Amino acid sequence: METSPAVEQARAVLAAGLAPALKRSDAPAFGCFPVYSPFELYRAAGLLPVGLMGAGGTVDIVHADARFQSFVCSIAKSSLELGLQKRLAGMEGEVFHSICDFARNLASVFRRNFPTMHIEYIHLPQNAPGPEIEDYLVSEFRRVMAGLEQRLGRRVEDAAVGAAIREYNRPRRLMRELYAMRAKEPERISSSELFPLVRCGTLLPPDEHARILEAAKGEFAARKARRMDRVKVVVEGAFCELPPQGLIETLEGAGCYLVDDDFCAGWRWFSTDVPEGPDPVRQLARAWLERGRATSTRYNPDKPRHKDLVRRVREHGAQAVLFMPAKFCEPALFDYVVYRRELEKENIPHLLVEFEEKMWTFERTRGEVETFVESLLFDVRMGIGMGGTGWGTHSGTWTSGDTGWRNTELQCTRPRARRCRTGTTGSPRRRRAAPRPPTS
Ligand code: SF4
Repeated sequence: METSPAVEQARAVLAAGLAPALKRSDAPAFGCFPVYSPFELYRAAGLLPVGLMGAGGTVDIVHADARFQSFVCSIAKSSLELGLQKRLAGMEGEVFHSICDFARNLASVFRRNFPTMHIEYIHLPQNAPGPEIEDYLVSEFRRVMAGLEQRLGRRVEDAAVGAAIREYNRPRRLMRELYAMRAKEPERISSSELFPLVRCGTLLPPDEHARILEAAKGEFAARKARRMDRVKVVVEGAFCELPPQGLIETLEGAGCYLVDDDFCAGWRWFSTDVPEGPDPVRQLARAWLERGRATSTRYNPDKPRHKDLVRRVREHGAQAVLFMPAKFCEPALFDYVVYRRELEKENIPHLLVEFEEKMWTFERTRGEVETFVESLLFDVRMGIGMGGTGWGTHSGTWTSGDTGWRNTELQCTRPRARRCRTGTTGSPRRRRAAPRPPTS
């Protein structure tokens, strides 16, 4: 596959990290912790919303461990470590949201450790139905605007919010188009290319991001590509902390086409454009309620997330789900139970692949995913499809030492008569290559 200059540009933006955004003279940077944040409000205040999304593998945790328990996800620790190592100097403020206990505590820890920053915490509604919820969310957004006005000493006009909605609609629309292109022709646009293209938008103004996406779209459309013998999967669970690039490359190298995922979910939150109309703050609140994603950090009885996952699997013609939570991510791991029950009910094979942002070796994951993929391809070749009779599932769970801690469960979807004893599936070659549980 030929290289894409737009993807290279996106990778260069990511390699530079937060530093260029913190030095911009046109708009001070304002850090947004995942998942969703109303970026338009900060943009309307003359700020540049940037993602505060951990540090990947770029910092050693030296100070943050003293502020948190040991069982905390990497993104919370490394985001704090960035501040404690003075790598957020120049950031006007940070915003956190009611997504989990760690994010809630992180807001307070930031407020205490960085008293010169403007720290905001947004209580997103947890009980979605009912007309009063929209009024509540509007009042919460207006409270955030008032806080910024006080901090910056200038008005945040509704008209500026409307202009920001127009600005952000453009890259969001382009991301939707690229996702649709990948779902339809995954051989044309790889996930290890789409990931940096989307992620670089967390560091750029929306118009600059849109230019990169537009260029990428043209390059991908002109590409000649050939479909490979791979399994189409939907990735779920990485809506907050992001997996390392190497893990995505590993999944593809092990034989997967990722046809949908929830990476950078907050920056791709809406299923359509946010309507541009009178009262833009209300339009934004209504869009959050009506056009938002189904994720583990939001309760929405009108759009149950396990049903939505099955819908996406069917819609994209996927053959399996890779459930990919960050280590210690409570919302994702709690939801695994719900997702798993639904997937088993629908006879959709799935594999649990846990990660952390500092993960640096992928050999064991590669072996597990290859085994899973080979098993599915074998069944396809033998004419055994999802939903047929004679299917069974069993699982093997073990702990791996190569990344410090990781737990992987293989769901064997082979007919009962052909299940192997070790809990792994596939050819003898794969079984030999597959990891074994530790003996002690
Ligand atoms: S990764 Fe999970 S637990 Fe950690 S801050 Fe994000 S939602 Fe919360």
